[in-house]
Amino acid sequence: MNSAPLKHQIAACTLCATRFAATKTAHQPRPVVWFQPGARILIAGQAPGLRVHESGKPFTDPSGDRLRDWLGLNEEEFYDQSRVAIVPMAFCFPGYDAKNADLPPPPICGETWHDRVMEALCRVRLRIIVGGHAHRYHLKTRKGVTEVVRDWRSLPDGVFALPHPSWRNTAWLKRNPWFEAELIPVLRARVKELMRYD
Ligand code: SF4
Repeated sequence: MNSAPLKHQIAACTLCATRFAATKTAHQPRPVVWFQPGARILIAGQAPGLRVHESGKPFTDPSGDRLRDWLGLNEEEFYDQSRVAIVPMAFCFPGYDAKNADLPPPPICGETWHDRVMEALCRVRLRIIVGGHAHRYHLKTRKGVTEVVRDWRSLPDGVFALPHPSWRNTAWLKRNPWFEAELIPVLRARVKELMRYD
């Protein structure tokens, strides 16, 4: 399947222009589109932060450093779109709230694009679902992040649920040492196995 037209449509999307113009940063939409239909690994995330909005490339920030460490991938491997698709619940930076935290991904993005993108990614064998917004869409759950991640062994084969790798979750990681001790080694082994395939 040729996904180029879909990628071009997303890259040109301005559905949230008015919404973003009303935020503190008054920015314009800049969709960060990062997938090819042959990818075996999907990283389903939340939304770009300001640094990613500026770079135009996903996870070019400390969250990305932590995520790459969790996956056991270097930058070259992580950014190989033929193997790894990175699809957030919103393709654009949503702006900041009053406390300077990132606003949630606008639901219209998932409603408009997500099903079509998932259909294009028909070769994905490993879905890594990052953060509560992505958990709700991909796992159809209303449970909190801790509960979903703690029950990782009960997820379908080829699905891992992770907390967001943001520094804001450093305390969560300290409170839940089983995550890096038990889940991460299994995830890394699965990623390594799938990175072998062309
Ligand atoms: S967040 Fe999604 S729906 Fe909104 S402008 Fe960006 S690509 Fe379009």
